[in-house]
Amino acid sequence: MLQYIKIRRNIHIKKRILASILLACTAFTTTLFTCNVAHASGDYSLSTFTTAYGSSVPIAYLQVADADEDYPQLTNFSSAIRVGSGSKKYNCFTYAMIFCGNVNNISQNTNEEIFTVENATNLILNNPCLSKISFNEASSQDLVMYKILGNPTEYQPANTYNHAALLYEKGSTLESTVVISKWGINAIYRHNLTDNPYMGSSYVSQAIQPPIERIIEISFYKVSHNYTYSIKYANSMAIRPISDYHKAVCSGCGAFHYEPHTYINKNNYIVCKDCGYNTKYMVNSIVPEKV
Ligand SMILES: [Zn+2]
Ligand SMILES: [Zn+2]
Repeated sequence: MLQYIKIRRNIHIKKRILASILLACTAFTTTLFTCNVAHASGDYSLSTFTTAYGSSVPIAYLQVADADEDYPQLTNFSSAIRVGSGSKKYNCFTYAMIFCGNVNNISQNTNEEIFTVENATNLILNNPCLSKISFNEASSQDLVMYKILGNPTEYQPANTYNHAALLYEKGSTLESTVVISKWGINAIYRHNLTDNPYMGSSYVSQAIQPPIERIIEISFYKVSHNYTYSIKYANSMAIRPISDYHKAVCSGCGAFHYEPHTYINKNNYIVCKDCGYNTKYMVNSIVPEKV
């Protein structure tokens, strides 16, 4: 009987750990927490993303309909300005580290390419595209990582990344620096670096009594991806396939995204400078002027 109870308890704890990892980048409230525990077990299927340098990153795919929701307690964060839609399909780590802030075209693509990164550690370790820098060296577009320091809890291991952002505008202090990040399953916000649900005093699990205060470490990374591009056609079976965008994949770390073509004039035709897609349209503006 004792053995049976012990096994049951272990399964229970494993489920809780899984649910808590899925909730990284989601600020905990009593209702949100219990609601998402049920969600995490049923609606997401677990898988891995293998980086170009061989590390395996735990991810989860959403199996049901998406949603576009604001962060429930948004008014607690006075600097936050919504700059993008909410989605349960990807989280802060995916936004900052896989998509690198390029999410405009993800709805055009299959669910298999949109996922939640559950644990960002393996995306940081040995990543050839990242170099750790000091706050003084940081500038726009750099990666900002938030990590919970201190003792593990039942819901969160120690030294776990709990949030990721992209630096938007550096200030003289952390508090006056502005970043862009996705808040868990909710929308994308531009906000002051320390004004968000993931900081020590505000990152409180109300499911635990008394609430636990956490110490958050902020680190900065210079990002340098090496993209190769492939053309994405709206209908590749058409006699003359038309394309509006391409896929960019980093050969260094595997980060990827979709983006519109960047057109240039190549031999008087409108051509994408990155993927080489040729629209077959002439560049009218360079037709020689009639004298
Ligand atoms: Zn890369
Ligand atoms: Zn292109």
